[in-house]
Amino acid sequence: MSKTLPKFIVLNGKIVPYGEATTHVMSPAVKYGLSVFEGLRAYWSEADQDLYIFRLKDHTDRLVQSMKLLRFEADFSGADIDAATIELLRRNGIKASAHIRTTVYLDGMGEQQATGPVSYSISALERPRAAKVDKGIRCQISSWMRMADNVMPPRIKCGGNYVNGRLARYQAIKDGYDEAIILNTLGKVAEGPGTCIFFVRRGELVTPDLASGILESITRETVLTLAQGLGIKTSERMVDRTELYAADEVFMVGSAAEIVPVVDIDGIAIGAGAPGETTKRLQAAYFDAVTGVGTRRPGWLTPVYKGR
Ligand code: PMP
Repeated sequence: MSKTLPKFIVLNGKIVPYGEATTHVMSPAVKYGLSVFEGLRAYWSEADQDLYIFRLKDHTDRLVQSMKLLRFEADFSGADIDAATIELLRRNGIKASAHIRTTVYLDGMGEQQATGPVSYSISALERPRAAKVDKGIRCQISSWMRMADNVMPPRIKCGGNYVNGRLARYQAIKDGYDEAIILNTLGKVAEGPGTCIFFVRRGELVTPDLASGILESITRETVLTLAQGLGIKTSERMVDRTELYAADEVFMVGSAAEIVPVVDIDGIAIGAGAPGETTKRLQAAYFDAVTGVGTRRPGWLTPVYKGR
């Protein structure tokens, strides 16, 4: 996939041309994968003629939590990151659906136990909705296990965690599927390489609980909130893999992925083998929420241009 390069990147609070946003090969980030990051989206509202960053503060709070757990000692704050994100979108003149990536990493040339110097970068690229949001995907239950909380905590978003997801996703694609579903060390359903998972059965919406070896996903929380608003019964608990095969509907969620129907798992059709009605209702509610249509929840939308 070829990508258009962004004009500007934020590097340690300064907006620099794309080519200047580099780091050294001797940094612990390169040597040991010592980074934490966030992926979030901004949505253009035609009605309001403004760009909204979705749940910016929640993403920044999680980033700060990830830094705390890895003992990064930074000389910048979450508020600095929020301000730089807004400024970057303005400078790049983005007026379309976009994906933002914020990475905080160990710079310098220290070893595994280093706590600094800590650098950060923010990039933003226009990224429209993927076709799979409408069509759905076919998944494989991976033979790779989700690493346990006392091995490498999946709860936080650190770069190294994504080696686990890569192993699972690569295998799934190699085997002819679109995506992997990863079980935890107890053999219960955890999540995808970059998404959380939900299923619907007998009218109830179920998702693995936060102790199942998953990221504390912001979209998962958004979907639970929206479902409750629509009067859908929800439950967070341990999930068996066979519950997914037996489900009427399955879908995966994430800031980048949005809400993606799963129409087949391991060659077994889910429900009618097509995106289900509850999934479609939640997708509609989600796309309304991110673009400011209907009820606006406090803190969910940060205006980029009118907030000036
Ligand atoms: N799980 C993993 C492993 C992820 O990488 C992501 C994407 N950040 C998610 C779940 C979904 O999280 P969020 O809704 O906060 O984007």
